[in-house]
Amino acid sequence: MRFYSLLAAAKINLYLEIIGDRPDGFHELAMVMQSIDLADRVDLRLIGTDTILVHCDHPEVPADRRNLAYRAAELMANQFPDAFARLGGVEITVRKNIPVGAGLAGGSTNAAAVLVGLDLLWQLGLTQPELQDLGAQLGSDIPFCVSGGTALATGRGEFLDPLPDLDGAFVVLAKYRSLSISTAWAYQTYRQQFGTAYVSSHEGIRERRSQVRSGAMMAAIAQRHPAQIAQHLYNDLERVALPQYPQIQHLKEQFQSRGVLGTMMSGSGPTVFALVDSEAEAQRVRNEMRMALPDPDLELWVAKFTTTSIKINEPA
Ligand code: ATP
Repeated sequence: MRFYSLLAAAKINLYLEIIGDRPDGFHELAMVMQSIDLADRVDLRLIGTDTILVHCDHPEVPADRRNLAYRAAELMANQFPDAFARLGGVEITVRKNIPVGAGLAGGSTNAAAVLVGLDLLWQLGLTQPELQDLGAQLGSDIPFCVSGGTALATGRGEFLDPLPDLDGAFVVLAKYRSLSISTAWAYQTYRQQFGTAYVSSHEGIRERRSQVRSGAMMAAIAQRHPAQIAQHLYNDLERVALPQYPQIQHLKEQFQSRGVLGTMMSGSGPTVFALVDSEAEAQRVRNEMRMALPDPDLELWVAKFTTTSIKINEPA
């Protein structure tokens, strides 16, 4: 095969707790990540020359070395120089459906698709853990984006424990097109404001992790109970994003007043999601939100929980 077309799924965070500092300067996190079927399309074509080309249809996403898809291909070329020399470089075309700078891991999932796609095109036969180790060199969310589904992520986000599949749940997503939040800003601001409460000892971090593992969110996921999961949605980064961006709080209130199971900002924001338990309910909430907030800057999506992240795009 010289061509693969892949779908690369976004993620939401059902839970995001900042535990403390790590010796490498990153934050120690405990997160529950969930893939959803809002996905970018990532096409990869072998071009028989020793170059990496990226095209992207989103005006704010660079098509050069700054693009995470490019960096993933470059990493693969450095790691597997024989395959790169023998089978040639690659042309990558990214069609964005996932909003950018939204807390939905859009760039990370594109990078994960390139790792998976080049493994297929170059016939490397890498295992999922090997692809995840490569992904961890580029970004903390990429290992999850390689496997997807529902998972507990600890460390920087690179240690993953799969959790029971939560297929059948739906979310409505809301984001103002003109509003983006830089992930670096969110974590730096959190450190400035709440860093004195950080846990840094090895023992302290282990204890916090085990509390998350035995906590209410894990119990709700084990029972696959959307209403209980919704009661335990949690995101520390709301503590910095909500005071700075009142629009996010307003979206949450609008969702709450429509009787959703629960609502939360995803990751570093600014996307807000509302959890509901059927597609019909999701459509109702989206339609009511659209009528209540006719602002053309507001984008709304209905998405379903999925059990995978990267999959081959099979056109209907
Ligand atoms: P996360 O949830 O992992 O924090 P995010 O959804 O907040 O990520 P992204 O959409 O991944 O953020 O984009 C953040 C930045 O990365 C943007 O400034 C964007 O220009 C850059 N970027 C690089 N490559 C890509 C890509 N393939 N897709 C989207 N953004 C990219």
